[in-house]
Amino acid sequence: MYAPEVTTTLERNFYVDDLLKSTNNKENAVLLCKDLREMLGRGGFRLTKWMSNCQEVVDSIPPEERAKPSLTVNLEDDNEFERTLGLQWNIRDDAFFFDVHLKEKAPTRRGVLSVASSLYDPLGFVAPVTLIPKLILQNACRQGLTWDQKLNESDIEKWCDWLTNLPKLSSVKIERCLKAGDLDIWSCNIELHMFSDASQFAYGAAAYIKIYDRQGNGKCSFVMGKSRLAPIKTVTIPRLELAAAVVSVKLFQMLIKELDTKVDNCYFWTDSMIVLGYVRNTSRRFKTYVANRLALIHELTSPNDWRYVPTNMNPADLASRGVHPEEGGKLFIWLNGPKFLNMEKDDWPHEPDGITTEYEDVEMKPAVVTSMVQSQCQDVVSDILNRYSDWYKLQRAVAWLLRLKTFMIHRYLKHETKEIFTGGCLSLKEIKTARKLILMKVQESAYGDEFSKLTSNKKIATSSSLVKLCPELNEGLLRVGGRFQYTEFSEDSKHPIILPSKHHVTELIVRKYHEVNHHMGAHHVLSLTRQSYWIIHGIRTVKHVVSACMDCKRRFRKTQRQQMAPLPVERLTPDKPPFTYVGVDYFGPMYVKVGRSQQKRYGCLFTCLTTRAVHIEIAHSLGTDSFVCALQRFMSRRGKPEKIFSDNGTNLTSGERELRAEIAEWNQSRIMNELVQKDIEWQFIPPYASHMGGVWERLVQSVKRALKSVIKEQLLNDEALNTLMTETEKIVNDRPITKVSGGVSLLMGLAASFHS
Ligand SMILES: [Zn+2]
Repeated sequence: MYAPEVTTTLERNFYVDDLLKSTNNKENAVLLCKDLREMLGRGGFRLTKWMSNCQEVVDSIPPEERAKPSLTVNLEDDNEFERTLGLQWNIRDDAFFFDVHLKEKAPTRRGVLSVASSLYDPLGFVAPVTLIPKLILQNACRQGLTWDQKLNESDIEKWCDWLTNLPKLSSVKIERCLKAGDLDIWSCNIELHMFSDASQFAYGAAAYIKIYDRQGNGKCSFVMGKSRLAPIKTVTIPRLELAAAVVSVKLFQMLIKELDTKVDNCYFWTDSMIVLGYVRNTSRRFKTYVANRLALIHELTSPNDWRYVPTNMNPADLASRGVHPEEGGKLFIWLNGPKFLNMEKDDWPHEPDGITTEYEDVEMKPAVVTSMVQSQCQDVVSDILNRYSDWYKLQRAVAWLLRLKTFMIHRYLKHETKEIFTGGCLSLKEIKTARKLILMKVQESAYGDEFSKLTSNKKIATSSSLVKLCPELNEGLLRVGGRFQYTEFSEDSKHPIILPSKHHVTELIVRKYHEVNHHMGAHHVLSLTRQSYWIIHGIRTVKHVVSACMDCKRRFRKTQRQQMAPLPVERLTPDKPPFTYVGVDYFGPMYVKVGRSQQKRYGCLFTCLTTRAVHIEIAHSLGTDSFVCALQRFMSRRGKPEKIFSDNGTNLTSGERELRAEIAEWNQSRIMNELVQKDIEWQFIPPYASHMGGVWERLVQSVKRALKSVIKEQLLNDEALNTLMTETEKIVNDRPITKVSGGVSLLMGLAASFHS
């Protein structure tokens, strides 16, 4: 078994196959090296190229596994790929410094990009310096230069100046160790200071850690910095300042995760009064850009963590403007933090007066003031009544309030009252008391006048809307008088409680009845409410509530329909005899008694498309012969149609073929009889367009419905069926133009007479 430190080191401190680790003291380091080599050795991994800033640790490792004796370690660990600027670790001084190689590159976008992307500075030690080529590059983009076009004069000058002075960075030295001496990091007081700033070109943030020893002396070190270009699209300075603040918050989030130590206090410094105003403002709403960033800031920090720093003391100011390599003094501030961080807390910059959280700003959403005037809110209970949208919840809420009242009385006026306080769940009695109180309040607010009259035993005014109900006051509730005093019914159904038509509570009660009874219709709900309540304008009130029920709306709403096409000409020719244009359809089968067996019969329905009159023939089969017979019987009685419409049914398709042949024969024979005949046109509606046959389908439905209700399960004989069909025909043809109904009862008598 290995110490937990060994396993956490294995899990957290490897970057691909490189291990970087700091320990509190030499002994720990020696032990950790031994354990790590042993543990990984068991898995077949041999750790080599060891290196430490402490000679004792190096001595504890076998010479063949040490790295080549060199004073520096290239942290890029990539010898083949030369960079312009590389981070190195000087073991003797235990400090980072920069190794600068210079290569000639043409002053074009391509050349500058090549250099800018070869700067290796993961922690942002020289972020203000490496910002300069990025700014030059952005400027070139803004001017729309191509990759190999030369930069403009002033940029070339800036670029050459930067390149010439870059080697001066070799003198920059950054201490690796953040704390002083061998302090135990877990017993120290640790502060993080995050600075942010923005200019119109760039914005950035810097993080410093201050570690106090037991005597209270603090050491402040640079942890990490970031610098970003402002977008080419113009963004206002307050927005950029806010973006910088977000960078500092994200940096903080990352450091908390990666630092492997506790942080006692954290301060966020900004020189933007506007950002401070935004962060501390919790009452106003901002536009989306600001609101989104503020949401992140408020999620990870508290407004109290934010402080003001004057611009000239703000190290992040460098990240927003850039520093030329020769300005070593400025870089000193960036790497060591502002002077005030090394002073007592009381000497830190003070906030100037005038930061208000309430001011007008373009980023603020205009405030909308909604005011409501409610005249009937007399007391707490009335106020509560309007707060709930559920009848049960309202009763429970009032019941709890009443329980609180009992508790208070019991607790503070013990000797003056005999009320007993009980805890636990609400009892039915408590709910009932609450319900009664609510109803009393409702009635008082709606019928105050009647209430006071009845309380003082006077008659209510004849102009009162309740006068017809002969109201009576029973235990504080207005109830309907009525004449049921001597029945055994419950008090509620004998004398229902009167409820006003337009009141929130009335609505809640009706809705509850509606929901509990599976969304029944208005009349049903009204009859159920009548068992306990008498709602004024009952059906109107209930209908109003039911029609507003979302559940019902969703389920029973009629679907949208297409507007129907104009009627065809065949249905609009009143000047021709009936049955000039005919629709034909079959229905059935119906069973008839023939001797001892049963046979099928079909109804063949002819509809006049203009008058909607019907003619029914009985076909003995679905065969062509049978249909032709039926058609002939029809034509013999009603006259010859000009045009016949039908479904695209197979029986009728073949029927037409036969029919044509038959008609051709009729014509010949009739011509022989010197009668002039016009051909009958037969038109099928297109396949799958059954809606086009709606004219006759609708009448088939009427006929079927009439027949079904009469025939039921009985067996008729042919004669009875024929009679029934003609009767049905008559009834359907007799129907009033407005409404088809009433035929069934007549037929019932008819069918009964056939069977008697
Ligand atoms: Zn409903």
